[in-house]
Amino acid sequence: MVERVISRDEILKGQECPSNLEGNLQGLLLALNRFRAAYGKPMIVNSGYRSPEHNASVGGRPGSAHVLCQAADFRDPTGSLASFCLENVQLLEHCGLWLESPSYTKGWVHLQTRPALHRVFIP
Ligand SMILES: [Zn+2]
Repeated sequence: MVERVISRDEILKGQECPSNLEGNLQGLLLALNRFRAAYGKPMIVNSGYRSPEHNASVGGRPGSAHVLCQAADFRDPTGSLASFCLENVQLLEHCGLWLESPSYTKGWVHLQTRPALHRVFIP
C-alpha cells in the first residue's frame, strides 16, 4: 500500500477552517500524521472538523472536540485500528493524542488533540 499523509482536505471535507481554529487544525494534522507514520497503514477520515451546525446535524455532542478542529474519526470496520491504539497507548501519548474508549465507538476510532482526563477516555 502507498504511504500517504492525512491531508487538510480530509479533515475539512470542503468546509472553511475558521481562522481562529487554524492552529488547532495544524496541531491535529501534525499529531495524526506522527501517529499514522508509526501505524504504517492508511487511515481513512470519516469525520474531522464540524461546524456547530454540522455537529448538531450528525448528533455530535455539543462541545465536541470536532467543533474546535481538535478531533477526527477514522474508519475502522474490523477494529484493527482500535486494537493498535489500545496496544500502543505510549505512542498516543508521544503523539499528543487522546483516544475515545473504543467501547463507545463501534466501526470507527475517535482521536483528539484536546486533552482528556485519561489517555483512553470515556466520553
Ligand atoms: Zn469523533
